[in-house]
Amino acid sequence: MTSMFSKQKGRDYFIFQNPEIQEELTLLANNPKRNNSFWRTNYSNEKLMINPKYTGWTNNVKSFSWEVLSDLIAFKGLDKSVFIHNGTGIPKEIRNFFNAESLGRKEKVEISIIHEQVEYPARIEMDNQPSPRSRMVWKADFSNVIKRNFPNEYSTILDNEKSSDGIGAKLKFLKVRNAVNTYKIEFVVPVSGQLIQDDLEAEDTEYNGPQRAEGNAVMYYGRRYERDPINRILALEYHGHSCVACGFNFEEVYGERGKDYIEVHHVKPLSTLKAEMVIDPKKDLVPLCSNCHRMVHRKKDEVLSIEDLQGLLNVNMK
Ligand SMILES: [Zn+2]
Ligand SMILES: [Zn+2]
Repeated sequence: MTSMFSKQKGRDYFIFQNPEIQEELTLLANNPKRNNSFWRTNYSNEKLMINPKYTGWTNNVKSFSWEVLSDLIAFKGLDKSVFIHNGTGIPKEIRNFFNAESLGRKEKVEISIIHEQVEYPARIEMDNQPSPRSRMVWKADFSNVIKRNFPNEYSTILDNEKSSDGIGAKLKFLKVRNAVNTYKIEFVVPVSGQLIQDDLEAEDTEYNGPQRAEGNAVMYYGRRYERDPINRILALEYHGHSCVACGFNFEEVYGERGKDYIEVHHVKPLSTLKAEMVIDPKKDLVPLCSNCHRMVHRKKDEVLSIEDLQGLLNVNMK
């Protein structure tokens, strides 16, 4: 993990909220007499994010701190404006996600943003410049919700005049299908290296030993993609933390202890896997609870599809 999180050999997979840590890890990784538990002892709770250069899923629209993942999902990286100015600029390229591409000068449209079942009124408005810029504006009550959810990021941004790049926190906008101009908002909180490693190890004890011991190379590749920390973060940011098969959510059942825990399953049929395969975390990886994941893999030569598993649940859970 020390090497993975450092910049050794030009690695740049992760960005720490505190960049000095990464420099120190790089020096350490390059030291032949390195102490591999150093990262764990000293920095394992430091928050990190994936370098944005690796989050470019094919066909995503990216502009400034925005990224549109699909018709229904967009991310906004947290910056000063979100905390302090009760809103955020919406670049031209992002307008049509919010059905605002046809707004003219000084026009506006009312929208609803919903967080944890509470609705906050907001709007998208154009200013009166000759080539008008658009903003999403909400009220102080929603800014307070954001500050409450991101206390550390808020103080980092207040302390640091120059840039908020690299804090890793995001707003996730989920378009509500059957409502007009209504968006659910979830907060994507940066994770620590420790949490990633612990979650992967928790899964390891369940599955990996026996599968690898039998030398099943094909299965090994499937599991390897599921266990890649970068794939994991990307998949969970996109899909969320509820089981796609049964809806189970660890936090709803176990509270804080279960927060953000879920396993990641690779859905491509294993026979089609090649060693050099490129993974699309949107399409190829899905969150599954531990029970469903175990059942999917229970028979090594017959990995179930999510649909097959749901079929079993429908038949047997009546
Ligand atoms: Zn499940
Ligand atoms: Zn799996």
